[in-house]
Amino acid sequence: MTKIRTRYAPSPTGKMHVGNLRSALYEFLIAKHAGGDFMLRIEDTDQERYVEGATEIIYRTLEKTGLVHDEGPDKDGGYGPYVQSERMKTGIYMKYAKELIDKGEAYYCFCDKERLASLKTEVVDGKEITVYDKHCLSLSKEEIEANLAAGKPFVIRQNNPKEGTTTFHDELYGDITVDNSQLDDMILIKSDGYPTYNFANVVDDHTMNITHVVRGNEYLSSSPKYVRLYEAFGWQVPVYIHLPLITDENHKKLSKRSGHASFEDLIDQGFITEAIVNYVALLGWSPEDNREIFSLDELIKEFDYHRISKSPAVFDIVKLRWMNGEY
Ligand code: GLU
Ligand code: ZN
Repeated sequence: MTKIRTRYAPSPTGKMHVGNLRSALYEFLIAKHAGGDFMLRIEDTDQERYVEGATEIIYRTLEKTGLVHDEGPDKDGGYGPYVQSERMKTGIYMKYAKELIDKGEAYYCFCDKERLASLKTEVVDGKEITVYDKHCLSLSKEEIEANLAAGKPFVIRQNNPKEGTTTFHDELYGDITVDNSQLDDMILIKSDGYPTYNFANVVDDHTMNITHVVRGNEYLSSSPKYVRLYEAFGWQVPVYIHLPLITDENHKKLSKRSGHASFEDLIDQGFITEAIVNYVALLGWSPEDNREIFSLDELIKEFDYHRISKSPAVFDIVKLRWMNGEY
């Protein structure tokens, strides 16, 4: 059997809220339960969304909660996390984008703002997106060379088929199939040379040999795009586990702003770390018996990911208060 390898892959965009902590904790527990490895990867290639200080919050929270990662680039005698902006300097994302171009699975696109603005738009997940018309797919080799030599700005797009379907499997939600006509030729490398978040995520999960991916179910609808990338490369798709939403007592999505939604705010309110970790573990997972109080070591022992549930988890501060008193 292959060794289980998981990763927590946060984007440094703000505080570490309860949903983020749950993803990190589950990834950690899945690996440790099976004697596998847990990695940390900072997904910071989206310069516009980067929030100053957010990476430090992630490091601090993981250290405090005991979710120590096992592997990473050597740093000061220990393991540093994988950091995408650092990995980018090695040219890794461009190298893999070019591999897709060679396979006919991606292509250079030199369209300017005006041309893109004139294209048809479609509403996907409540967001208006431009449906790219594959115009640049028909450029000749000479035209491409000339554009590149002239320093014309470009992006690299994925060449998705318009016919057929793409199916992907989630451990909780089962098989999900989408029509390929729904898949846009998404950008893999942006005009600033940075990879898009989706592309870097797939290249890294593959090159880091990640076997299990745990993340919030807001990613469920974009997962077929990831699967299309794996297929284009001919890579094996990891096991996907998309976790249900965490709601407040009124079944509304927990917002980052509501005071009790982030780890640091909970600490400020006097909750102790062990109680928070214990409580977060139970937001979507239950042990075989009806035990409720667990140390991190006990969680590692008990955590069978097949017992994760897809029903929405309700964040109940009263319950957390009770737990806090048990420690
Ligand atoms: N960087 C993504 C986030 O912070 C992680 C998505 C994933 O785990 O694949 O939400
Ligand atoms: Zn184009």
